[in-house]
Amino acid sequence: MIIVGGGIVGASFAYHAHLRGVSEITQITGKLSTDKEQATRNTWGWVNGYSPNDKKYAAFRLANLKYWPKLIEDIKHLTSSSKGAFFWDMDKDDLSETIAQHQSWGHSVSDVRKLKLEEYLPNLYNRPEIAGFGENDLAIEGSKVSNLLIKASGSRIKKSNVNKLIFKENKVIGVETDQGIIYSDEVIIAAGLGTPDLLSTININFKMSSTLGLLAYTKPLPKLILQHPITGKDFHARQDDQGRLVIGGKFDEDASKESNIKEVAEKLVQDMNARLNYNGAMTLESYTLGRRPLPIDGRPKIGRLKNQLDEKIKGVYVAVMHSGITNAPLAGKLGIEEIITEKRHPLITDFFPQTSSYNESKSNV
Ligand SMILES: Cc1cc2nc3c(=O)[nH]c(=O)nc-3n(C[C@H](O)[C@H](O)[C@H](O)COP(=O)(O)OP(=O)(O)OC[C@H]3O[C@@H](n4cnc5c(N)ncnc54)[C@H](O)[C@@H]3O)c2cc1C
Repeated sequence: MIIVGGGIVGASFAYHAHLRGVSEITQITGKLSTDKEQATRNTWGWVNGYSPNDKKYAAFRLANLKYWPKLIEDIKHLTSSSKGAFFWDMDKDDLSETIAQHQSWGHSVSDVRKLKLEEYLPNLYNRPEIAGFGENDLAIEGSKVSNLLIKASGSRIKKSNVNKLIFKENKVIGVETDQGIIYSDEVIIAAGLGTPDLLSTININFKMSSTLGLLAYTKPLPKLILQHPITGKDFHARQDDQGRLVIGGKFDEDASKESNIKEVAEKLVQDMNARLNYNGAMTLESYTLGRRPLPIDGRPKIGRLKNQLDEKIKGVYVAVMHSGITNAPLAGKLGIEEIITEKRHPLITDFFPQTSSYNESKSNV
């Protein structure tokens, strides 16, 4: 089995393939999880179940939220950096609606009033009147977790670029890399933003978009300055496993128009300093600028591809998504199950890479 991509999605496929007894797993990846270009390296790391007005996607996210603790239990050294997260990045009515909607879908989310927030976030000045609280939300460190999954899978990592998929009689039979051709029974494309280029080599027009996300990292601070991740109207912040605050602006903001990124990162730190009761120095240590891998309709794309005659293309499986930190565990588990058993789990039924709601991605094969 070949997995193209060494981010968290590829790592989860490798881990679950190993659990299902696949003995030869090779991960071919242009970038490693420590490289700046990978989305997994540049993530904020919030595992959550929200997807307002999209019950099916919310169900998949919630199932991932429930599955994450099992991975944490099963994989040595895998931990979360915090549990439970707050958000108030919308007006009061929308917040209440979002909470009520997700509660009715079975999520452990509640509203927490200002007085109670003092217990959870004692160092935060200007607490909101009301915030949403995802009781089981987690924060994880993307690169570390990916490395642990890869290690647990025993997969062989090959740092190389895949230039094209090798296609014969409606089946992908291998890949052509910078270092030569590798044949394989199954090629899993977990290549994030590299997916459209790879699929174009078998004449599939798969479109994605992308925005740039800026995150500022402070130098390490005493732990528990900020006990839980918080998302306000124009900021989000959490403390990582080393005590650094990881701070972004408005959630999902696109930083591509900013001309002086370092200045913006410094301002994020300054503003957070003013929001928190902390007497020591809070300074910028570094920042990351990551490209979000965004499928066109916002939903994950997981599954087999079809050719122009609507026949399944054999030997290739796609898994690409934003919110990959939340979704990677079950994308990998259910993806591998589908590859092995040829049965598709109901949780991913609607996430075919070429969906009817998105006709432009239809195959030209
Ligand atoms: C700023 C930011 C904040 C985010 N915050 C969150 C969050 O809080 N919660 C959440 O759930 N998600 C979040 N995300 C999204 C999440 O990080 C991504 O969805 C996830 O990391 C995607 O993982 P991946 O493995 O699919 O892609 P990547 O990590 O990008 O890995 C793709 C891999 O494929 C390799 N590759 C591509 N093409 C080729 C090729 N042709 N040959 C060989 N290798 C190739 C690349 O080198 C790379 O290693 C955030 C993303 C960003 C950028």
